[in-house]
Amino acid sequence: MLERKTKIVCTIGPASWDQEVIRGMIEKGMNVARVNGAFADTNELDMVKKLIRNVSDDVALMLDVKGPEVRLNKFPEPIEVSPGHSIILGNSESDLIYPANYPDLYKSVSVGQKIIVGDGEVEMVVKKIENGQMNCEVVYGEIFAPGKALSLPGCDYASEVLTEKDIENLKHAIKTDWDIVSASFISDVSSVREVRDVIGSAEIKLIAKIEDEEGLRNIDDILQEVDGIMIARGGLGLELGLEKIPLVQKELITKLNEFALPVITATQMLESMTNNPRPTRAETTDVANAILQGTDAVMLSGESAMGKYPVQAVKMISDIALEVESTLEPKVLWGSIKAPLTTEAISKAAAEVSIGMKEDLDAVVIVSKTGTTARLLARHNIKQPIFVFTSSDIKRRFLNLTKGISGAFTFEGLDVDKADYSRDKAIKTILSKAFKEGIVKKGQKILFLGKTPVDKQEFFPNLFEIVRL
Ligand code: PGA
Ligand code: MN
Repeated sequence: MLERKTKIVCTIGPASWDQEVIRGMIEKGMNVARVNGAFADTNELDMVKKLIRNVSDDVALMLDVKGPEVRLNKFPEPIEVSPGHSIILGNSESDLIYPANYPDLYKSVSVGQKIIVGDGEVEMVVKKIENGQMNCEVVYGEIFAPGKALSLPGCDYASEVLTEKDIENLKHAIKTDWDIVSASFISDVSSVREVRDVIGSAEIKLIAKIEDEEGLRNIDDILQEVDGIMIARGGLGLELGLEKIPLVQKELITKLNEFALPVITATQMLESMTNNPRPTRAETTDVANAILQGTDAVMLSGESAMGKYPVQAVKMISDIALEVESTLEPKVLWGSIKAPLTTEAISKAAAEVSIGMKEDLDAVVIVSKTGTTARLLARHNIKQPIFVFTSSDIKRRFLNLTKGISGAFTFEGLDVDKADYSRDKAIKTILSKAFKEGIVKKGQKILFLGKTPVDKQEFFPNLFEIVRL
């Protein structure tokens, strides 16, 4: 049983392409495995899926699609630079340095354009464009490294959200039962629709990565169309400026808690553990603050994908979460959410009961066909563990992104079409399954909650019962 409430997303890369490393990461608490679609092809997706599924059927698989991210070619050696240094970005393989996946980038760029390399290691400004080459001057930075992503704030070089490769990867992920797709630079409803068009009627869940000013401005509309968000602090730091991140993070977390949708806080959470076995004090405090603000999940990026200490990083982030969570008080939230009023009301009532009963209530067991009731209860941050019976494997694993869900199970026990179906039978079935899973014990007091089918009708919020087992 999981004691930790906060969920952990880990990016999988060369450092974690190893069965024992993956096993260690899962044992230490990885809930979601993320693959960076900028580098991965469908073979890599299959390989990662196998590494994960060899150990666990519970860890969710998340494909991250990058869209038209500009990437530098892998020129032979990192270049030492300093302010004033000149760098020439060309447009083909005959140039030393050029944007490998956008050789024609210069056509959309004007003199004065800011270019940021990687997570901001180097900043340059375009001084001259001549013969298809951009002559840039370094503003700051020391090492100009090969293969890095480029950010060009304000430059409209491409409008599509998904590249051909993204679409191929996404279709493959859907076909092979991946659980979640996270889409970069979701800035408005029409960019969500582009991804939804590829998803079609497939069940895979969609996380919008909020990375720029426009995405922030349109957040309320975006939230109507997606299943959750990632606070992409990498993108946000480059697009808005680093000083804007702390408040943007706080506002987004508050909003997502109100919507009862999962929110992932991402990027550089334990950055120094890429090379060191211990994080900095500032990093542990950053992880703690995201949790205190109410984030559902925290994420490891390079730390687990390319770093020297992937397993230790998972353990560290889990230890911080356990330490901080014990001080978090429940809070009953009111606010705009996209769920039926009855569902919101029943979950709010359940939160009040759980808070009022304190230690006298051992756990809440929820029957939640879509997972919505479970997310609505979890957002109030109650102390008791929440266990969920939901209707599909993807819905079950997607609950891995919601804080406070201690266990989720796919539930196939209720046969609504049987002639002798009844509500009492339904409750009995759930109870016996809960015993079998070991999540409830004799003598415990459990709040049963949720929607069960009644007389072959739609699922209906008819279950609200405190049972002494
Ligand atoms: P990335 O996204 O690491 O996939 O770029 C997260 C971010 O921008 O913070
Ligand atoms: Mn990003």
